[in-house]
Amino acid sequence: MDDDRNRNVNIVILGSTGSIGSSTLNVIAENSGKFSLNLLTANSNDERLLDQCKNFCPKYAYMADQAASKRLRQKILKENLTTEVLTEEKDLHEIIASDDTELVVAAMVGVAGLDTVFTSIVNGKRLLLANKESYVVAGEYLNSLADKHNATIFPLDSEHSAIHQCLAGIKNKADVSKILLTGSGGPFLHTNPDLLKNITAKEATSHPIWKMGKKISVDSSTLINKGLELIEARWLFDIEDIEIVIHPEGIIHSMVELNDNSVIAQLSIPDMKIPIAYGLGYPFRIPSGSKRLDLAEQGPLNFFRPDFKKFPCLNLAKEAMECGGNAPAAINAANEEAVAAFLDNRIGYLDIYKIIASVMDKIEISVVKSIQDIYETDNSSREYAIQKIKAL
Ligand code: NDP
Ligand code: MG
Repeated sequence: MDDDRNRNVNIVILGSTGSIGSSTLNVIAENSGKFSLNLLTANSNDERLLDQCKNFCPKYAYMADQAASKRLRQKILKENLTTEVLTEEKDLHEIIASDDTELVVAAMVGVAGLDTVFTSIVNGKRLLLANKESYVVAGEYLNSLADKHNATIFPLDSEHSAIHQCLAGIKNKADVSKILLTGSGGPFLHTNPDLLKNITAKEATSHPIWKMGKKISVDSSTLINKGLELIEARWLFDIEDIEIVIHPEGIIHSMVELNDNSVIAQLSIPDMKIPIAYGLGYPFRIPSGSKRLDLAEQGPLNFFRPDFKKFPCLNLAKEAMECGGNAPAAINAANEEAVAAFLDNRIGYLDIYKIIASVMDKIEISVVKSIQDIYETDNSSREYAIQKIKAL
C-alpha cells in the first residue's frame, strides 16, 4: 500500500494558467516527486504558460490560440527549455490518450473543454473535473462512456468534493436521504433587488469568499453556478433529492443527510487547493498547502434558503435539470454567451437572465444520443442567444 502512496503519477492539466490550473500546480509543488507533468495547456496566456514550463518542466505544452502558441514556441527555444510545444490539435488528443497519461485535470472554462474531456473518458483516464460546463451539458452520456471505457470522473468542485467525502464512509447508498448542496450566495446575497440592474462586471466578479476566473465569478453572482452544480451533483451521485442551502461563510462545503436524520458535513477554509489535493491524492490524503480551519477564530456559521425570485437563473437551471435531454446544453450555451456579452459591456446584468430564458423558451427538447447532439444544441442555442443579445 505504501508503494502505491509513493508511486509517481503522470498527469495532464488542461487550462493550467487559470485559477484552478494554478492552484493544481501549487498542490503539485507541495508534493515534490509525487507527480510528473506530461502536458500543460492554455488558451492564449503564453507568458504564464512559459513560467509554468520553467518551473514544472512538462514534457509537452499546447495553446489553443495559434499566435500565442507561436510566441510560446519561440520563447521556449530561446530559454532552452525541454518542453515540446504541440501545434496540432490531433497531437493534443494523442498525448491525452497515450498510455503515459494516467490522470487528467480538466480545468479549462466552458464547453470548449468538452472535446478533451471526451478524449480523456473514452481512453479510460482518471478525470479530475473542474470544467463543470462539459459535464453539465452531457453528464448522462459521459457517465455511460466512463462505464464503458473504465474511466473515472472525480469531482474537483468544492461542493461535489465535499459530497464525495461525506459519502465515503456510507456503505449503503440507500441510507442517503438527501444531498445538502451549499453555496455562499455570491456578492449580491444582501443587495436590494432594485439595485441589481446597475451591477457592473467589476462588481459581479468580486466574490466575497472565492478568488476565481471571471466566468464562474459572474455565474456565482447570478446563482446559475449553483444551478449548474445541482445538475453536476445529479449526474455525479445519482441522488435525486438535492436541497440548496445558502451558507455565506463557505466553511461547510456541502452535506449529506441520512435516513436516520443524521447529517454529515465536510468543513475547511474556502481554498480550492483542498478539494484539488483530495482528487490528486485519492485514495490517500496528501498535503494541500492550505491554511488550517480554526473554528473558534472563524465565529458563527449562518444558513439560509435561496431566494429563487431574486435569483431566477437558479430556477432556469433547476427546470433544465428536470427537463433533461438537451436542456442543460441549451442553458449552458445561452449562459456562456450572455456572460461573455455582460463582461464585454454589451448587455446589462439583468439581461443575462432574459437571454437565457428566451433561449430556453425557444429550444426543442430532445434526447441526447451522441456527443454530436450536444454540439448541435450548443450551436443553435448560441446562435439564438447572439441574435437576442444584438437585438437588446
Ligand atoms: P479561469 O478563467 O481562471 O481559467 C480558465 C483556463 O482555461 C485558463 O487556463 C485558460 O487559458 C483556459 N482556456 C480558456 N478557453 C480555452 C480554450 N478555448 N481552449 C483551451 N483552454 C482554454 O477559470 P477557472 O480556473 O476559475 O475555472 C475553470 C473551470 O473550473 C470552470 O469550468 C469553472 O466553472 C470550474 N471551477 C472553478 C472554480 C474556481 O475556484 N476557480 C471552483 C470550481 C469549479 P488562458 O489563461 O490562456 O486564457
Ligand atoms: Mg463550486
